[in-house]
Amino acid sequence: MSTLVYPSQVIVIASHARAEVLDAAKAALISLDRLHLIPARPPCLVRMRGRRGEEGRYDSNPPHVDLHPKADHPGFTFVHEVGHFLDNRCLHVIYKGWASEIDPDFETIIKCWLNSRHVKRLTHLQNKYRLRAITGYERKYLESLTMRRELWACTYAQWVATKTDNPQLKTELNRLIPPTGHIAGEPYSIQWEENDFKDIMCAVDDLFKKRNWL
Ligand SMILES: [Zn+2]
Repeated sequence: MSTLVYPSQVIVIASHARAEVLDAAKAALISLDRLHLIPARPPCLVRMRGRRGEEGRYDSNPPHVDLHPKADHPGFTFVHEVGHFLDNRCLHVIYKGWASEIDPDFETIIKCWLNSRHVKRLTHLQNKYRLRAITGYERKYLESLTMRRELWACTYAQWVATKTDNPQLKTELNRLIPPTGHIAGEPYSIQWEENDFKDIMCAVDDLFKKRNWL
């Protein structure tokens, strides 16, 4: 079994310049340390840079996170991108690929996703607008939300924000539960309502216990 360490021993925030976004990422990293462990791995570098229209991004090779210096939800976005890193590098033994897409231990979480009202709503909208004249960007974004790796990152961020005592993460989660996206005027959310997320919370607990992360 691999050595387990605190996330802050693997996730390294590069810049030391003072900024709201940087402070939010640092505070969120302290919150992760209080919640769980991860396997010792080569570091994942977090940089304060971003593309227009993107709050954050995770790239797998080499693993790094870019956080937009003016992100609207910096703490939550940071945790979401860390979720991608865990999926890519820490939750399974293979270094490449995504645990959420290949690891049988995700079976219960996937079942909970498919049973949730949130994912049913996203799938309904995808099917409804699959053949209609919607711009490529709108459809692509909506479809990306039900990819397993994206559902996992959203799940991890909500699991952290629900468990933590970090007030900023809780506030940012609460801003993302009401609908923030729309396709052809129909609203949809990025995150689950609290009671729609309960089974998923338990399934993540079980996965992390199985990995000895909790
Ligand atoms: Zn993502």
